[in-house]
This record gives sequence, structure tokens and C-alpha cells, in this order.
Amino acid sequence: MLTSMNPIFANTTGMDKGVLRRYLELPQPDNKIMATYVWIDGTGENLRGKTRTVDHEPKSPEDLPWWNFDGSSTDQAEGSNSDVYLKPVAIFNDPFMLGRNKLIMCETYKYNKEPTASNKRIECEAAMKAAANQHPWFGMEQEYTLLDRDGWPFGWPKGGFPHPQGPYYCGVGASQALGRDIEEAHYKACLYAGINISGTNAEVMPAQWEYQVGPCEGIAAGDQLWMSRYLLLRIAEEFGVQVSFHPKPVAGDWNGAGCHTNFSTKAMRDANGIGAIDTAITQLKARHKTHISVYGRDNDRRLTGRHETANINQFNAGIANRGASVRIPRQVGEEKCGYLEDRRPASNCDPYAVTNIIVRTVCLGEKD
Ligand code: ADP
Ligand code: MN
Ligand code: MN
Ligand code: MN
Ligand code: MN
Repeated sequence: MLTSMNPIFANTTGMDKGVLRRYLELPQPDNKIMATYVWIDGTGENLRGKTRTVDHEPKSPEDLPWWNFDGSSTDQAEGSNSDVYLKPVAIFNDPFMLGRNKLIMCETYKYNKEPTASNKRIECEAAMKAAANQHPWFGMEQEYTLLDRDGWPFGWPKGGFPHPQGPYYCGVGASQALGRDIEEAHYKACLYAGINISGTNAEVMPAQWEYQVGPCEGIAAGDQLWMSRYLLLRIAEEFGVQVSFHPKPVAGDWNGAGCHTNFSTKAMRDANGIGAIDTAITQLKARHKTHISVYGRDNDRRLTGRHETANINQFNAGIANRGASVRIPRQVGEEKCGYLEDRRPASNCDPYAVTNIIVRTVCLGEKD
């Protein structure tokens, strides 16, 4: 059973992109820049965005004004007191509007300037500041599933299933790689935007894909991963395809979708950093439940101990073990330094929440 059955909407994707291109090529006045403000809505998982004109090209978030939106329409405020503030925090090049136009990652604040419930960035930024001298790096492996307009995985036989898993991981060919155009368009769009995308691959379940963002230091990991998700959703929108970040989009013998989080500090990357990695694993083990509580909704459906996962109720670690909660890559075991891979976060996790708790547990020594 698919968990995210969306109704079929009338086809709005048949619009001729060639016509749009004529207008995208129109010259734009020097003092008119389009800035699309992007934010996480009240679900804590979905993104919203709206665009305004600013009179100069912003070089840093401080160059941009705070803005606001109707929070009663995004589950972030009551209708009677509905203005929610948008605070610009990171700037990216806009691969859709091109030129000097920008995409702006934003934090959300309530009418009284308190952060909204879905603003996990504030706490994360505080942790990153406190741990800055340890230089925490993150490489996040974002998995996602493409769904057709009717909610069934993209390219799967209607009302049926493809051949069992096996040929799809890093697969090539029309019946192995379902939706590659989206993956490739997204890769180029991320590079253009200024996102540190480090690779991509087709996944074990057909129509499931992965890309990696990182290594990014500190708060940039969350900013970049969120904006990369925005780009993916927008690109898939152009193809008339839905993106699911659900950790188990299809029940049964089909792999779930995760967001493995590779993590290191300077001490781990330095010679004999394996000692610091082992210490980190001990700290992570002691707070397993607390970590799981912020690693994504419905993650229990994915972390079953099967399909290259560990059981959600147990913590285990090991070199090159893809059934572990935390894996030490084989090369790291051999070189005795590098990073660890936390395999627990789900594909729908909030990277601000994930990187925040990892840094608090490992770098700041926080305990339950
Ligand atoms: P896997 O073998 O688990 O599929 P991937 O190659 O998909 O791993 O992803 C590994 C990620 O880890 C990449 O984004 C990479 O940039 C990142 N990474 C590499 N070295 C480090 C490091 N020292 N600290 C944090 N992340 C790292
Ligand atoms: Mn209006
Ligand atoms: Mn990977
Ligand atoms: Mn993967
Ligand atoms: Mn991995």
C-alpha cells in the first residue's frame, strides 16, 4: 500500500515551455531582481515560496528585507493573528529565472518574533556556533521517490509491480532507470544554484533516487539540503511528476528512503581520528531514542532491520555494515581517520534537527 496517495489533478503540465522561454529571455532592468523567499511550512516537511522584487542584487542575507506571509494558510498561525515573518538566511542563484535572480532560504517567526514551531534552524545555528572550533562537517544522502500524477511510483506498471529489486540500484536502461531526466536536471540546477552537491545514483527501489549534499560545515548543511529539496520539487513539477520524501513509500519488499548523515569533526579527520569516531559512537548509542525522535516521521516503517537498515529499537555500529545504525566506512577503518555515517535519519527528516542533535551529542557532550 502506498502511503501518499494524492488525487489526480487536471493536467497543468502540458503548457508549452517554449513559449515561457520567450519571456524568460526578455531583458530585465538592472535595478529589478526577483527574490523567491522559500520556507518550511507548518508540517515541518513541506516547502513554500513566494517572490518579490528587490532593487539590488543581494550579496548576503542581511542585504534583504524581512518579509511576511499568511501563516493561517500554512498551519503556522491563527487567522486572527496571521502574519508570520520571513527572515532571509541563505542566498542561492535561481536556476529557473536565471540572470541575477535569487532563491532565498528563510526562517519563520511568529507575530511576537518568537520562532514558529517548525523553525528548527535557530537551535541548530546556536549549536553550530558553540561547536565551530571543532569544524563539524556533514554529507547528507538524500533519497527520494518519484510518483506519477496518480500517486503510484513513476514508471511502475499501473495497478501492478515491477520486477523485484535487483537491477535498479545504479541501473541503466529504460526499465531500470525510471525518471533519470529529473535527477540530471536537478544535479545541474544544484550546481548552478551554489549547492555543494557531491553525487547522485539510482536507488534499489525502482523510481527511487539519491543525491548527496556535502561535505558542508555547520549550518550550511541544513540550508543547502532544504534548498536542494526545493529545486527537486520545482523540477519534478515541470515534468508533471510528484516527489515523495516518505521513508517507506511502498510497503513490503521495497527499500525505504533515508537520509544517511555522514559526519566528522576536525579531530576525526586528523591522523588517528578513529579514537574520536569511537567516542562519538559511544555518545550516539547513549542517546539513541532521543536521536530517533527527531530523525523523521514514520521512520519506524523503514527501520525494520531489513532492507539495509537497523531495527529502530536497537543501536549497533560496525565497519562497512549497512545493517548498522552507524557505519564506519571501510576506508575510514583502514586509514584510521575520517567520518562516520549515521544511517538512521529518514528521507523526510529536517536536516536542521538532525545536524543539531548530532553536534549537541558529539561535540557539546549533551546527555538526556
Ligand atoms: P554511501 O557509500 O553511504 O552511499 P555516499 O557516497 O552516498 O556514501 O555519501 C557520502 C557523503 O559523505 C558525501 O556527501 C561526501 O561528500 C560526504 N563526506 C565525505 N567525507 C566526509 C567527512 N569527512 N565528513 C562528512 N561528510 C563527508
Ligand atoms: Mn494577497
Ligand atoms: Mn549513498
Ligand atoms: Mn542510498
Ligand atoms: Mn549511505
